[in-house]
Amino acid sequence: MRHAAQGDPTPSGHTQKVGEHLERIPVAGPWITEKEIAYVQDAVSKGWYDNAHSYIERFEAAFAEYLSVKHAISLPSCTSAIHLSLLSLGIGPGDEVIVPEITWIATAAPISYVGATPVFADIDRRGWCLSPDSFEQLITPRTKAVIPVDLYGGMPNMGRIARIARKHGIAMIEDAAEAIGSEYKGRKSGTFGVTGVFSFHGSKTLTTGEGGMLVTSDDEVYRKCMVSRDHGRRPGDKMFRNVQIGYKYKMSNLQAAMGLAQLERIDELIEKKRLIFEWYRAELEDLKAVTLNHEDQHVKNTYWMVTIILDKRLGMKKEQLISLLWELGRIDCRPYFDPLSSLPAYYDNKQATVSRTRNKNAYEISQYGVNLPSALNLSEGQVRTVCRTLKRVLPTTQLRWG
Ligand SMILES: *Cc1c(COP(=O)(O)O)cnc(C)c1O
Repeated sequence: MRHAAQGDPTPSGHTQKVGEHLERIPVAGPWITEKEIAYVQDAVSKGWYDNAHSYIERFEAAFAEYLSVKHAISLPSCTSAIHLSLLSLGIGPGDEVIVPEITWIATAAPISYVGATPVFADIDRRGWCLSPDSFEQLITPRTKAVIPVDLYGGMPNMGRIARIARKHGIAMIEDAAEAIGSEYKGRKSGTFGVTGVFSFHGSKTLTTGEGGMLVTSDDEVYRKCMVSRDHGRRPGDKMFRNVQIGYKYKMSNLQAAMGLAQLERIDELIEKKRLIFEWYRAELEDLKAVTLNHEDQHVKNTYWMVTIILDKRLGMKKEQLISLLWELGRIDCRPYFDPLSSLPAYYDNKQATVSRTRNKNAYEISQYGVNLPSALNLSEGQVRTVCRTLKRVLPTTQLRWG
């Protein structure tokens, strides 16, 4: 029996924080079964010599089939997938690439690796992804690419974003790191751009510990990525004759074995994510002072992170809620991403300076957003504990119940 939020005043008048005796409720984490263990065991004992690439080939083929794309390239991370995408599109110094303000910095950092300039666009108020209007307003003759992000498992308005990109001759790289299995109008995330990129970091819905995937149906982009990901070797090169200076971006056969097992269970993983969201929705539905992730009628959201935005009239910001939930119930939350242009990493970036006053939705929403525990091993009881504690720590006002 779990007693979470016992922050009641003691007879001495002090608030007793009993949270430290409780089991931590994790914000993220995988669901591993005998299948993953068996595949990795097989790879470690037999995946050498003639079988050294067998799981890599199977994982890539199964991934391409899952998304109905021509090519899938397994990589050490999603960050490297974005880097390779930019390289294959020939993006470099003098070019601009548009990214949404609200995302993990990995979406934008590779733009700097290739010497191009990130341009930060605002997000939609309800879906929290790239705003098509903001994207269109920021296009200049130097804009070469846009990287929409399927934030927390949701999807941007892909129809409009793709139309705007096509009209202006701008390439699209879709960052689907947080959204494997999400859909927009029945089409899977990661298939809207010239490349789509995925992360298999330990916190993501499908994990290989660390890892990533680049998918594309463009043969030329595929060929370029294959060369630059292997120190400039042409695929099949046996003489070590490097044709360019490249990178070393590969996934190991051991990781691919784990990835294949996870991919064979992908429907189950996604159903669990959607079930966790359903548990939260049922508990928090009557709490009018918080807004949960949005699922547009054209979208299937896979809810990588169940997220709430506090009504600003509550007068409570994300930092305060995160520390209260931790202190009272060892409830592990994360802050909604700060806008990229607000980060010290971009203090010297001229684009960031103008973004800070321009991107109003991102700057407002991000102050009040919290990712609630969404790990794949959560039970309904743990979700109820989180919700009970949340209701307890929110300021008492009539906003609580609407
Ligand atoms: C996790 C994540 C990445 C980076 O993935 P890595 O595999 O850690 O490189 C990129 N973009 C988004 C939106 C992410 O959430």
